[in-house]
Amino acid sequence: MFMNIDLHCHTNISDGVLTPNQLIALAIERGVDMLSITDHDTLDAYSIINSVPPQLQLIPGIEFSSQWRKQGIHVVGLNIDLSNEVIINAVSQQSDGRKRRAEKIAYKLKRLGFDNSLEGVKSFAGSHIGRPHFAQYLVQIGAVKNMNEAFKKYLGAGKAGDIKDEWADLKTVVGWIHQAGGVAVLAHPKKYNLTRTKLVDLISDFCEAGGGAIEVISGLQIPSVTRDLAGLCNKFNLLASCGSDFHAPDRKWAALGMVSQLPDGCIPVWEHWS
Ligand code: AMP
Ligand code: MN
Ligand code: MN
Ligand code: MN
Repeated sequence: MFMNIDLHCHTNISDGVLTPNQLIALAIERGVDMLSITDHDTLDAYSIINSVPPQLQLIPGIEFSSQWRKQGIHVVGLNIDLSNEVIINAVSQQSDGRKRRAEKIAYKLKRLGFDNSLEGVKSFAGSHIGRPHFAQYLVQIGAVKNMNEAFKKYLGAGKAGDIKDEWADLKTVVGWIHQAGGVAVLAHPKKYNLTRTKLVDLISDFCEAGGGAIEVISGLQIPSVTRDLAGLCNKFNLLASCGSDFHAPDRKWAALGMVSQLPDGCIPVWEHWS
């Protein structure tokens, strides 16, 4: 039986645009059967959600930022116990790191001639400030044409605003998720633009750290990428996850509840829960 499953998406608590309740409503409208809200380094969405109708299974989740060999890597934690003390402390540590990081980004931007960016960002962002908020600010003041240009010039990998030293390392993050009873999922493995050797090293370090799954499907992707990720998933005996990485309704390549099915041969991460 076909199940509509989306295990990676964001609300306006982090860098998405819908409120948690709006996101749940959209998921129902799209016929999603199983959903995980995975905001960046925060679980706050889960305390805001009013009620979830019985046709939707909501899996408690998070997307942690981590560092691995000077590279920012995202790890999704699925089916975690929201009341677990380790995860609560972890989120608070990452939140503090995110605040310090926002100050560092603002300092770097100031050196490039953009004064008071943090004040600007705070005028529209909530308490979980990320690079997309700085990108939005740079668009607002006319420094760049769009978010993509902001990342390309100022915030993306290797640029001034790419500050990762506030994040816990990959192993620690995977450990937190385990201790909270969840499965650690390597998010969007192809989006880090790693060489083949590095990608294989990353997956193998992730497995060694106790990682349990990789996202074989992340948003709209070409079949060859799906085949490659399914191959890596099986080679490393990992479970497979899938998610849209939805942030906003206008991003057609990351549409909520429109995730392709996992290829045959992959063992779904939800096999243990449903
Ligand atoms: P942060 O959590 O602050 O490191 O911000 C990372 C987020 O920035 C990602 O989750 C994406 O939502 C967003 N992002 C990354 N690259 C781009 C880009 N080129 N254009 C727009 N948003 C991006
Ligand atoms: Mn994001
Ligand atoms: Mn991510
Ligand atoms: Mn994401």
